[in-house]
Amino acid sequence: MVEQTFIMIKPDGVQRGLIAEIISRFEKKGFTLRAMRLMTVDKSFAETHYQDLSSKPFFAGLVSYIMSGPVVAMVWEGKNVIATGRLLIGATNPAQSAPGTIRGDLAIDIGRNVIHGSDSAESAKAEINLWFPEGDKMSDSMRDVRSIPYIA
Ligand code: UDP
Ligand code: MG
Repeated sequence: MVEQTFIMIKPDGVQRGLIAEIISRFEKKGFTLRAMRLMTVDKSFAETHYQDLSSKPFFAGLVSYIMSGPVVAMVWEGKNVIATGRLLIGATNPAQSAPGTIRGDLAIDIGRNVIHGSDSAESAKAEINLWFPEGDKMSDSMRDVRSIPYIA
């Protein structure tokens, strides 16, 4: 099923110069970039994005981390992109992420794991609406790219 997911390069990924490397993996897989923005979020925005984790002991540190510098917010589209995107990203803890995955190749610490990806259709919808409230208007320029067939 062709669907969309929300992917974010976290502040450590941006600071370490990994933007192109990470985008490249999604492009080479065959997914289509539909929207992208470099932005820095404030505390309430970060708390909203991670609201499901608000009771976790690492929540305050996670919010500080996400606010600590610019992030690259993106919408990627393609067949099963939500689940397959999570496979490309790898396990939450880079100590357990398989080599070949983004976290497995590029990160060491669970608290600095370079990338976020939506974990379900529901969270993808909510996260895309949160980060790109203007919706499809922003991605008009991607319509030509979208027309290139990449699914057999
Ligand atoms: N996190 C953390 N410590 C933990 C678990 C998670 O710092 O013990 C951070 C980590 O940056 C992770 C984020 O919280 O990516 C969100 O956690 P989640 O369980 O949703 O993992 P993800 O969906 O990012 O793999
Ligand atoms: Mg998650």
